[in-house]
Parts: sequence; C-alpha cells; structure tokens
Amino acid sequence: MNELVGMGEVREISTGDGPKRYDPNTTSAHHHLLCVACGALRDVNPIGAERLGLTEDERHGFDLLDVDIVFRGHCPECAGSGLEASH
Ligand SMILES: [Zn+2]
Repeated sequence: MNELVGMGEVREISTGDGPKRYDPNTTSAHHHLLCVACGALRDVNPIGAERLGLTEDERHGFDLLDVDIVFRGHCPECAGSGLEASH
C-alpha cells in the first residue's frame, strides 16, 4: 500500500495511533469545502465539476494530473457563533 500512496493512487488518512485508512474517493473527482475559521473540511461534488477544463493556452504547457477545488467559507457552527473581525 505504501507504494501506491507514493504514486498518488490512494490517499493516506492519518488517524493517529489507529490503523491506516484509505480514502475511496481519491479515484473520482471530488472537491472540498473548507471552513476558514475552524478548518472543518467536507468532501463535495459540485455540479459540472467533471467538465472543468483548461484550454491549451491556459495550461501553459502543463501536463495536468489533477484538480482540487476548495470552497472557502464559514461552517454553520462558525457562521452562527457571532464571530466578527476584531481588528
Ligand atoms: Zn468552522
């Protein structure tokens, strides 16, 4: 399994002292919601994401391997906690 991790075939998930787990979602395109306040992360599958692409010009010669979209914001807990920018 470690060899596969090195090749990016599966994603290793750290679970502290417990047994290693592997994310079965790695092979299908999925993206993330990230709470910028507490760091909560959710897997999401936005509509139309599978059709995302870059034109030849926008690739700038890159050989594309992967795309990972991160939607940033505040999770319900953080949004509802009345936090305001205090600076
Ligand atoms: Zn949060």
